[in-house]
Amino acid sequence: MPKPRILRLILGDQLNLSHSWFKKPDRRVTYVLMEIRQETDYVKHHIQKVAAFFAAMRNFSVSLKALGHRVVYLRLDDSTNTQTVEGNLSRIIKTKKFDQFEYLLPDEYRLDLKLAETVRRLPIAGRAADSEHFLTDRGDLNEFFAGKKRYLMESFYRWMRKRYEIMMDQSKPLGGKWNYDQKNRQAYDQKVPIPQPLFFDNDVSDIVKTIRKKKVVTLGEIQPAKLIWPTTRAQSLELVQSFVDDFLPAFGTYQDAMTGGNWYLFHSRLSFAMNTKMLHPLEVIEAAIKAWDKKPSKIKIQQLEGFVRQILGWREYMRGIYWALMPDLATMNYFDHQAALPDFYWTGDTRMNCLRAAIGQSLKHAYAHHIQRLMITGNFALLAGVHPEAVDEWYLGIYIDAIQWVELPNTRAMSQFADGGRVATKPYVSSARYIHSMSDYCETCEYKWNQRHGEMACPFNSLYWDFFNRHRPRLQQNPRVGMMYRTWDRMDSGEKKQILNQAAAYLKDLNRL
Ligand SMILES: Cc1cc2nc3c(=O)[nH]c(=O)nc-3n(C[C@H](O)[C@H](O)[C@H](O)COP(=O)(O)OP(=O)(O)OC[C@H]3O[C@@H](n4cnc5c(N)ncnc54)[C@H](O)[C@@H]3O)c2cc1C
Ligand code: SF4
Repeated sequence: MPKPRILRLILGDQLNLSHSWFKKPDRRVTYVLMEIRQETDYVKHHIQKVAAFFAAMRNFSVSLKALGHRVVYLRLDDSTNTQTVEGNLSRIIKTKKFDQFEYLLPDEYRLDLKLAETVRRLPIAGRAADSEHFLTDRGDLNEFFAGKKRYLMESFYRWMRKRYEIMMDQSKPLGGKWNYDQKNRQAYDQKVPIPQPLFFDNDVSDIVKTIRKKKVVTLGEIQPAKLIWPTTRAQSLELVQSFVDDFLPAFGTYQDAMTGGNWYLFHSRLSFAMNTKMLHPLEVIEAAIKAWDKKPSKIKIQQLEGFVRQILGWREYMRGIYWALMPDLATMNYFDHQAALPDFYWTGDTRMNCLRAAIGQSLKHAYAHHIQRLMITGNFALLAGVHPEAVDEWYLGIYIDAIQWVELPNTRAMSQFADGGRVATKPYVSSARYIHSMSDYCETCEYKWNQRHGEMACPFNSLYWDFFNRHRPRLQQNPRVGMMYRTWDRMDSGEKKQILNQAAAYLKDLNRL
């Protein structure tokens, strides 16, 4: 019996060169990668995101060919490209006579269903293999929290530390503590200079031309001859090295800081390389530990722990939440918020300095760091009562690293509290006081951060109290927000009225802010 001829699909976020599939070339196996409208059009993406994905896919196919593998690569403008996974697979299977189809388990629920359905319809047998990327299986988190109402990240993270023996001294955490958040998370005081960043000069002009020619609707800006994001494994590894050498020493200290003067601060900008699977999370963690091991006087343990927590903890946790709560998560709306997303989310054209900065850099670089996403754009959308679907659509489109498995739990659950609190113990909202303490945005803002009402009172202040006031029935039993209600109840009734009137005026026309 001749061995079967196999067609294997690789999706754009499955660029894992260390996968066991690629150990040695096999003439009976052909890999297929495709640039398709099915993926460019399901949401309006940032132009840098589309270009970076296509560039990374093209580079990946070149690497596979160089290793001796057979590869079919369909470009967006190939005349035979049907623009859907199923259409392309059917055509290739028919014309090239394959006996078997294989794919790597996708990370998105949408594609998971679609591929399973496609396999049922194909004329040949199909099966899925693991993507060999994550440190947990899809169902691990759900199993870990079985019977629990809340899914506490901290307990999951400690379990992961023990399970993978990362930063452990026998059964105790290295350094004696699991969590160094108290020492970390300071405002940026300009004392530590921000190191020179490693930006790449990837020329994606051809790709951008094709995207434009095919009239793919995108958002944001790009310099086609100088795409700064890594599009190969070698570049991704260079970025890891640059991060652990230069940025890690101050990562934890300033991980929550924001400044108008710089858009990345001490963050790694590794999310795109990891989410496309050019990098494995464990190798990033190991590189950080190795750097700390080599120079413990330069990199303090709280910096290392702060970083390891993001990848071993938050990243795996969010993936587990996604699979535990899907498909319901995609339609949750605990507060029944219905407002439209203000127009300035698409232009950055607002007088609110913090939003102008966070949105402006997102349009320019397809990037904002975690606290900007959570406490500026997410915070404002939640206070303003924007429908979580509109919020999701924006986050899913605008960021270089946005893929639904990680975007949705971060946006709907963590940032918008639309899951009613399974992930966050309280809604992540704040008045201007927090933004003022963690950034320099307020210093040059037209609005007055310390005023709750009045002509130029900061919108975050009145909207904050209005949020708690209107959601009292849903929130007042929450022990973590009880204090807010006690403060509100003690406030003079005239003051309360002025705050609520101010919020009503702002909510009436968010686009004017
Ligand atoms: C509303 C909202 C939406 C988000 N959407 C996405 C998204 O679409 N894709 C995405 O990768 N991250 C998302 N995040 C998480 C986080 O903001 C980004 O991972 C981070 O900003 C990426 O930049 P970095 O690589 O410089 O991260 P660093 O600050 O250097 O952190 C290192 C790594 O830790 C991981 N990480 C840190 N926080 C989280 C988190 N909360 N969830 C998952 N991984 C985390 C990332 O892989 C990141 O690369 C979102 C957060 C919020 C609040
Ligand atoms: S004053 Fe208000 S709107 Fe202006 S930057 Fe500060 S928090 Fe943002």
